[in-house]
Amino acid sequence: MHYLDHNATSPIRPESLSAVTHALAVGGNPLSVHAKGRAARAVMEDAREKVAGLVRAQTDTVIFTSGATEANNLALFGAIEGSLAEGETRITRVFVSAIEHASVLATADRLAERFPWVRVVRLAVTADGVIDLEGLRVALREGKGRALVAVMAANNETGVVQPIAEVSRLVREVSGLLLVDAVPAAGKIDLDFALCDYMVLSAHKLAGPQGVGALLVREGAPLQPQLVGGGQQKGLRAGCENLSGIAGFGAAAHAVADGEGERARIAHLREHFETGLKQAMPETVIFGAGKARLCSTSCFAIPGVAAETALIGLDLDGVMMSSGSTCSSGKVSVSHVLAAMGVEEKLAACALRASFGWSSTMEDVNAALRSLIKLRERGRGKAAA
Ligand code: PMP
Repeated sequence: MHYLDHNATSPIRPESLSAVTHALAVGGNPLSVHAKGRAARAVMEDAREKVAGLVRAQTDTVIFTSGATEANNLALFGAIEGSLAEGETRITRVFVSAIEHASVLATADRLAERFPWVRVVRLAVTADGVIDLEGLRVALREGKGRALVAVMAANNETGVVQPIAEVSRLVREVSGLLLVDAVPAAGKIDLDFALCDYMVLSAHKLAGPQGVGALLVREGAPLQPQLVGGGQQKGLRAGCENLSGIAGFGAAAHAVADGEGERARIAHLREHFETGLKQAMPETVIFGAGKARLCSTSCFAIPGVAAETALIGLDLDGVMMSSGSTCSSGKVSVSHVLAAMGVEEKLAACALRASFGWSSTMEDVNAALRSLIKLRERGRGKAAA
């Protein structure tokens, strides 16, 4: 089996798995004052430190959630609601890049419905998949009221890294707030929480367990809890914490924190993959190739090889990847990320994503190349027949 779909979910690392099982054995409710509760709390606080450390944040900024989807929802709804009491400086404008994950885009759409005074604007990206900074600068100067901006640290489909330092500077110039979805970027590039007000992480993209993530919130940034009940996590996210998941998250964050060697190895695999594609099939298009990209991600299209058929062929050869399009109710819809980059629909329908991680090997890469070359040959045969 050749798993090249780490951006969908990265298989759990041994270090993370043993932290999960250890935490399950510890048991206990972190809120309890007795010995078992204290042991549980120690496990959770150790993980909190490791997660914060990954992005150079203070430990008390971390709110554990059920994943990045919840964290993005909490950040967006929570920021708007939290700013309501601020009168003049309440948030009235929300800017989201057009290539954000659905958990940001769909939430932003809901914001506009629920808070009619909030104007939601999608920000354009260039053909290379980088946010249009000039567009952002101009947009931020239009209209009144505080702005909330959501730009991801790197895109999960193309791997293209976004200029967060510049975005942060523009947002700070107008006293706005910045939400950075750092899900695919965490552990792959250097991230600095100090540049933003809210940051979102997900454990399973770091080779930790699924169903756990975090929202990091700068002290003083508005945030109204969305799950209310018990007083967990300073009342910002009620509910007994997913202790074993959190422990696994901490271990995964710790494992990647000084993973320079691993990143170099992954970058080498990606390089070998893309060189192999280009050599065998020079017509291959690699999206965002001219820009800084995460070492883990390759989004490409072989013209004439439809992604949906390719995925089946790859799977038959034991190679697992993702496509840049989704097929729902029989209708193929092209990736919103590639559409925002202006990629032609016909080419976008051929877009595939190979994503590499800690468990990927050269054998996986070679198997993927063999399978793709075979698919292209078969496509050519059909066209000639
Ligand atoms: N943001 C990005 C950029 C993602 O890639 C994903 C997962 N595909 C999410 C958010 C949602 O993460 P989770 O699965 O933890 O809810």
